[in-house]
Amino acid sequence: MLADEVRACTRCPELAATRTQVVVGSGPPDARLVVVGEAPGAVEDETGTPFVGRSGQLLDKLLDEVGLPRARVAVINTVKCRPPGNRLPTRSETANCRPWTTRQLAELSPELVLTLGLSAATWFLGRTTLGAVRGRVHEVEGRRVLPTYHPAAALRGGPRGEAMTRLREDLALAVRLVA
Ligand code: SF4
Repeated sequence: MLADEVRACTRCPELAATRTQVVVGSGPPDARLVVVGEAPGAVEDETGTPFVGRSGQLLDKLLDEVGLPRARVAVINTVKCRPPGNRLPTRSETANCRPWTTRQLAELSPELVLTLGLSAATWFLGRTTLGAVRGRVHEVEGRRVLPTYHPAAALRGGPRGEAMTRLREDLALAVRLVA
């Protein structure tokens, strides 16, 4: 089974040595929407579930607001093990984990992929800026990909709370697209 293979993975020596556990993903196998983030944080590493810290709680709340409960959404990260000290994953770690993510997406075969933050958008679209791609659907190898802000950006605020507003808009669009 794919999840068992991922849990046994040691392709990134530092991450394999420092993680508490591999955070494979969550949600039903027939989810129409797959949310993709970057990498687990401390709470995710402890619990084995993606997006359960502050960002995850905000994601859950916003999903509820648009009428799509988290229980109906699959959530994965492009990198399945926590980088120590919450540093960014390295290029090679992201590359090492890419085949796992590709296989997860093939198995889930969702109607829509919603990427959170620049790193997840870049995973699908290549080097870009979030401002250039967010809020629109992109076709990537036959898959519909909708990039949006990371909930952490919405929590940080910013000018007039724009990230929160855009995140809400993009989640509402995602729900319409998978309805
Ligand atoms: S991050 Fe991915 S490739 Fe690296 S050790 Fe963890 S599961 Fe394996």
